[in-house]
Amino acid sequence: MHDASRTLGNEYWLVNVAAVIEHDGKFEVRHHTSIHVVGNAIAWIGDSERSSLTSDAKVRVIDAHDAYALPGFINTHVHSALLSNHGRGDDYAGAPIYQHRVAQGIMFSPDELAVLAGFGAVQAALMGSTTIVDNYEHEDASAGYLEHVGIRCYVSERVHDADLAVLAYSGRYEYQHAIREQTLSRQHNLEDRYAANGDDDLMRVMIGPHGPDTCSRELLAECSRLAKARQQLVAIHLSQGAHERDQVSSRDGMDSVELLDSCGLLGPWLLAGHCLSLPRSRIARLAQAKTHVIQMVGANLKSGCRLQSDEFAQAGANVCVATDNMMPDMLDCLRLYVLVNRLDSPHPDNYDASRALASATINPALAIGRSHDLGRLAKGYKADIVLIEPNPVVSVPASGELQHIVYNYRRDDIRDVIVNGEFVVKDHAPVNADLMQLRQEALRIFAVHDHD
Ligand SMILES: [Zn+2]
Repeated sequence: MHDASRTLGNEYWLVNVAAVIEHDGKFEVRHHTSIHVVGNAIAWIGDSERSSLTSDAKVRVIDAHDAYALPGFINTHVHSALLSNHGRGDDYAGAPIYQHRVAQGIMFSPDELAVLAGFGAVQAALMGSTTIVDNYEHEDASAGYLEHVGIRCYVSERVHDADLAVLAYSGRYEYQHAIREQTLSRQHNLEDRYAANGDDDLMRVMIGPHGPDTCSRELLAECSRLAKARQQLVAIHLSQGAHERDQVSSRDGMDSVELLDSCGLLGPWLLAGHCLSLPRSRIARLAQAKTHVIQMVGANLKSGCRLQSDEFAQAGANVCVATDNMMPDMLDCLRLYVLVNRLDSPHPDNYDASRALASATINPALAIGRSHDLGRLAKGYKADIVLIEPNPVVSVPASGELQHIVYNYRRDDIRDVIVNGEFVVKDHAPVNADLMQLRQEALRIFAVHDHD
């Protein structure tokens, strides 16, 4: 469990850092940097020679040994309980929810989902996610496991009223009031625990109607009403694929963007995942409403779809890159984001390492309303820091170090992860959770269900 009193008494100097600093939207690497962490925030960051670091024996000095220090990744679309699913659904070009052959929430008990979510949160931490936006079935059961890992979690129950077992096994949509009430009840459980939390707390609650097709129009309108009453962020899947488009069109006589618009869901509070195959008019509407576009590069390419990042950028939309469940490495997502968009863009140079990093730091900080204290290494910002160990094999960085980080480094090069001033990954291992025990439990769970 996160110990707030420990964080408040926390103070140390992180020295010998090659800090990745943002200035006017561009990132650069500054060597010989020191970071003074007091409590859960950065009290000072700058050139080591100008630091006020003294020989005060009471204050810890942690030598980073020239590690690259990046602002922690803000991973805005994750279903942590499904992160153990790598490999299972990769040959299927759609989302698990539409396909019973991929293990998923409807097949697991709440206790099993909680274990899988804990394992997923550890994996997210190991890939440098200091914040995740996590939405899934029985999130109220999983929240304690997520909390234990020590990263920031914006949690929400997967609210829906379509019977997802019927959908996965037969492709039909059956809406049931009882399912709506069950999922909303679990959402209320989360709110009871976390609604009073603020920016210093790791656990925050938002609301997560699953999608325009798996929620009836009435339920979407109810989620919109609840979000406004409670001033909550909203996470949703939007224009994820043909199932959704066909269902919304036949049920409501409109497309998914129009449907969310008519329910009052479009706005700066909405984090819309996927947003695939949209015409320019709908892209323009999302941008105008300041809805944040979350691109899951791996999942989206897996489904055979273009990213349309240029169109979103031209419309002025805030675009964030997230892993979803298909990519176990945020750095893989970032370089794919650059390279794939160059295929499409008339100005391929516009996609560079800086833009990739912004899509996992500055942009998602804006999406979750945390531009003031997350997404940058700067004085007054929360001490959410990823330390990447210089790898003598993959790069000889006399120059172009930012490019080396984005194009050449991988999850396994991430040595330490600091959240709210506390180490949650140290020397490549999670601090607060037993990775191998969680893995054993996940193996046991899948051993049962893979034979179903
Ligand atoms: Zn998703």
